[in-house]
Amino acid sequence: MAIATTSPVTGEVLRKFDELTPEELEDKLARAAAAAASYRLTSVEQRAGWLRHAAERLEQEAQSVSRMITTEMGKTLRAAEQEVAKCVHGLRFYADQGPAFLRDVNGDAGRVGAKQTFVTYQPIGVVLAVMPWNLPLWQVMRFAAPALTAGNVGLLKHASNVPQCALYLEELFRGAGFPDDVFQTLLISSRRVEQVLRDPRVAAATLTGSEPAGRSVGAIAGDVTKKVVLELGGSDPFIVMPSANLERATDNAVKARCLNNGQSCINGKRFFVHQDIGDAFLEMFVAKMGALVVGDPTAEGTDVGPLATESGRRDVESYVEDAVGKGATVLVGGERPDGPGWYYPPTVVTGVTPAMRMYHEEVFGPVAQVWTVSSLEAALREANGHPYGLGSNLWSEDEAERELFVRDVQSGMAFINGNTTSYPEIPFGGIKGSGYGRELSDLGMREFMNAKTVWIGADG
Ligand code: NAP
Repeated sequence: MAIATTSPVTGEVLRKFDELTPEELEDKLARAAAAAASYRLTSVEQRAGWLRHAAERLEQEAQSVSRMITTEMGKTLRAAEQEVAKCVHGLRFYADQGPAFLRDVNGDAGRVGAKQTFVTYQPIGVVLAVMPWNLPLWQVMRFAAPALTAGNVGLLKHASNVPQCALYLEELFRGAGFPDDVFQTLLISSRRVEQVLRDPRVAAATLTGSEPAGRSVGAIAGDVTKKVVLELGGSDPFIVMPSANLERATDNAVKARCLNNGQSCINGKRFFVHQDIGDAFLEMFVAKMGALVVGDPTAEGTDVGPLATESGRRDVESYVEDAVGKGATVLVGGERPDGPGWYYPPTVVTGVTPAMRMYHEEVFGPVAQVWTVSSLEAALREANGHPYGLGSNLWSEDEAERELFVRDVQSGMAFINGNTTSYPEIPFGGIKGSGYGRELSDLGMREFMNAKTVWIGADG
């Protein structure tokens, strides 16, 4: 894939970028290793100060940065502004909490025959981040803010369709005062990820993206015994029980499916609705999905902009065609509009069976699959039958149902009466085909730290 900004609104290539030459890549790797040797010795308070500068600068530049995000990947300007605000919050969160997260943790010295024993958290060095385009700033910030707070050095291989966002991030951290080369962007194709990951100067990797990309990077990391965090695809269940407030549940179902133009790993994608409220839910949900305004992402009233890439839209269409060809019913949407731009309408499909691809895979666009179920147990059986396990949602006022859901749903995150989202304050991540490891909170920061055990015996 060429490294370029291509407008999802017109299909026009707006700007092309050259890939790094082998010599330029070698230079960046050498610089990263040199930066890691000295950056680890800076204090966490100093790093927190640089994070605060980055937050201030990003806040000041929020308007132009939001436009850049919208230009490169097509989300609405309003969504881009929310993404930027979230990054500002994430930077400040780690600036505030970093020092506490990095404190040594004392152990019980008496039980292990020591005068003192403790765990001290130390940075591991250069971390490669392979990132997707769908939240081009926030996905990176989720890795970068904790990693830089911890004293690690970042190398970013961003998705090829968001090079301006990638270069901006390097500039943001440098401009905020972080020492040179502590955060560098590598304009390289995905084919060269293996070379970087195998390089002995790189200690670990984190990848957010599709399952095939995760499998490939995970296998290479395993081969060279390097730590890797994988944040992969999702096909999150959204379960609605009779006690739920239907107005609220359907409003949120629409948001869950259409957030980020339907291109988020944590979109609610599979909707399981109790049979007692199945008809009422479908009527309201279909009406609300059909009422969304699809169009120019920079226009004030737009709810859903274009999909980010032409191939992405083709994939979404092919899932719907496959399902319809095998007997599924489209209740709203399902046809691409005429004209330029990679638009695809909010779509609701029923009658999806295991014979259809969308039943087993992830549809990365605003297409909801809805089933009615006889009980929460039946919903959980269906929900857990999927290869992914990222987020999950339950809408219910019933305490016993909530407990059952938390106990039995197979996912890294369980949200009740609220849509799945990421907060720096709480861990984010999945299980099964959705990957492993956690981002955000103290857990995310510690993924790329050496938890060094220290044992000190009596003197003399
Ligand atoms: P993608 O094609 O896997 O690309 C993600 C990143 O990986 C890009 O930088 C890409 O580079 C690179 N890449 C692709 N194939 C690779 C390979 N074989 N080896 C090394 N690097 C490789 O995914 P996407 O289409 O951009 O993003 C959508 C996917 O990401 C969805 O499945 C979504 O659910 C998932 N996602 C997960 C989370 C989460 O937190 N769990 C968050 C957001 C998105 P190029 O652009 O140069 O190909």
